[in-house]
Amino acid sequence: MATTGSPFSAQPYQGISTFGRRPHTRNLSGVDVAILGVPYDSSTSYRSGARFGPRAIREQSLLLWGYNNAQQVAPFEVLNVVDYGDVDIIPVDIHATHQAIEQTAATIQQAETRLISLGGDHSISLPLLRACHKQHGPLAVVHFDAHPDTWDEEYPTFKYSHGTPFRRAIEEGLIDTAAYLQIGIRGPTAGPQDYADAKQLGARLITFDEAAELGVRNVLSEIQQRVGPRPLYVTLDIDAIDPAFAPGTGTPEVGGFSSYQMLQLLRGLGDLNLVGADLVEVSPPFDSQHITAILAANLVFELLSLMARKTTK
Ligand code: MN
Ligand code: MN
Repeated sequence: MATTGSPFSAQPYQGISTFGRRPHTRNLSGVDVAILGVPYDSSTSYRSGARFGPRAIREQSLLLWGYNNAQQVAPFEVLNVVDYGDVDIIPVDIHATHQAIEQTAATIQQAETRLISLGGDHSISLPLLRACHKQHGPLAVVHFDAHPDTWDEEYPTFKYSHGTPFRRAIEEGLIDTAAYLQIGIRGPTAGPQDYADAKQLGARLITFDEAAELGVRNVLSEIQQRVGPRPLYVTLDIDAIDPAFAPGTGTPEVGGFSSYQMLQLLRGLGDLNLVGADLVEVSPPFDSQHITAILAANLVFELLSLMARKTTK
């Protein structure tokens, strides 16, 4: 453990930064949820730096005092949450890194511990989905992003990068495409094919424009309808949020969700069967006054609160 006694007995700025000042341990006995860092960004195609994401999110999570007033739950009281530390990654080898991610995630989930992972670039979702699928079978996936990430090859003959994980996941049968939603998609592309391909693969693609027209409430009711009782994995690319609120990311696209809209979208997932989640693409070198990392820490707190609410019912 990084701290002695209650993690809330000390000042928040005291001690070594773990997520939410939870104990750092790899002992999973009695642990409900593990936070895992995945400091890998070698699959970014534009600005890198997301390897520093987990560390920055932990650092900016120190003010999560414990009680979520919006969801009316104290996730760290209801759930035994620990900070598992980071996956050992090899920055020059995506395959070895993906294998290490999958193995670490599988070890955690085999102990009946739920997992929330901090990226890292979006390529890490593929091995995380593989491990989650091993435990739960085909997954409903709610994917917040400015980009569909369903390219076949971002670079000729290279099947794996942060632009391809969801096509690979669909090909591997990890995702139940009847319950796969991409939300917040926007920005210029080389042509109309990117969105057409995502739809062809079975994604319900909700552009930011459509989400704005529908409103948060209607987007949420469509999510509820499509996901139903299926095991749900939430993957949150921080670039789903407007760079005015979350500048610290590698491929920013203007005109996205506000911080508040994203909080509402997560809170509204309510009673869904959330089995795992990741939050990716926070790139501290492009952040300003830590605002992206602060937002990321709070979004993870909302995900933990959802898990806690479900547990108390
Ligand atoms: Mn992405
Ligand atoms: Mn993106």
